[in-house]
Amino acid sequence: MKILIADKFPEAHANTLRDQGHQLLIDASLADASLAAALPGYEVLIVRSTKVSAAAIDSGDALRLIIRAGSGYNTIDTAHAASRGVAVANTPGMNAIAVAELAMGLLLAVDRQIPDNVIASRAGVWDKARFGKADGLYGRTLGLVGAGQIGAELTVRARAFGMRVLIYDPYLSPAKVAALGAEQVAELHEIASRSDAVSVHVPKTASTTHLIDGAFLEAMREGAILLHTSRGGVVDDAALLAALDSRRLRAGLDVFEDEPAASKGEFPSALAQHPRVVATHHIGASTSQAQDAVADEVMVIIEALASRDEVIHRVN
Ligand code: NAD
Repeated sequence: MKILIADKFPEAHANTLRDQGHQLLIDASLADASLAAALPGYEVLIVRSTKVSAAAIDSGDALRLIIRAGSGYNTIDTAHAASRGVAVANTPGMNAIAVAELAMGLLLAVDRQIPDNVIASRAGVWDKARFGKADGLYGRTLGLVGAGQIGAELTVRARAFGMRVLIYDPYLSPAKVAALGAEQVAELHEIASRSDAVSVHVPKTASTTHLIDGAFLEAMREGAILLHTSRGGVVDDAALLAALDSRRLRAGLDVFEDEPAASKGEFPSALAQHPRVVATHHIGASTSQAQDAVADEVMVIIEALASRDEVIHRVN
């Protein structure tokens, strides 16, 4: 098959695809118009964060399958793809451990002010009086909004730290929640009012946009921690910026509504620069073990299409 990879992809996996007889073009710089111009003739398009618009899909005269090498697929116009008979597939769960690890890291970083300790140390300052204050995690309550693959992995890790876990996820069966050793909560705002820390793990859809809004943040405990590693736009960033001061909330954030699309650039975000925020650069899935697991699953999807004309993990 002719496969266009419009993002980074592990070299070993690319070589295996070539050895299997596929023709590959790998160009991480393709985007928008240049992606549309490159697509004619290709049957499969593989992307990580590169956006796939209706216009790009229309230009893919031979396009059969778009593979999102990751879990969230809000960057692809899946409805338009379906209307053109183009399947969209993802690699669910392959980066769940990596994101859960980052969420735990953010939680510890916020509670112990680890980044501020480091900044002071690097400036030659010793300040045990300022930094020797933390709540600790043991016995505290972590509330999850959405508990699919990532939320489940985070639950395992939080429980290993002795935390109690509450879950708000109306699509999850009580048996699944019980098997995770967590407590199911029926109302979204109950998560806010009962948790010392809240972590958000829903996909970005029309119904989850600003799910974490001013009213939710207002219902959170004073000084509580919000962790956001899902997608920019699930949290109302302007409302969060206000609540950092009005509710003295603290936050560990990997994603932002106005985060740059490019991997490098200016980011003059008042939220990311706020002293009660620990910000990372949308790196949740960016471990080599997660990227290898994602690429392994991409290979499985291509094999199913090439040998059995079957699309697995189809989302549209
Ligand atoms: P998943 O599909 O396994 O889980 C999502 C869960 O959210 C499901 O259990 C679903 O029932 C629940 N949900 C949906 N709508 C809800 C609502 N309104 N209220 C409560 N729960 C709701 O997905 P996942 O693999 O756990 O990933 C979650 C999201 O994390 C992805 O969609 C993606 O946006 C994001 N993500 C971010 C990174 C990163 O780099 N920071 C990496 C991977 C995934």
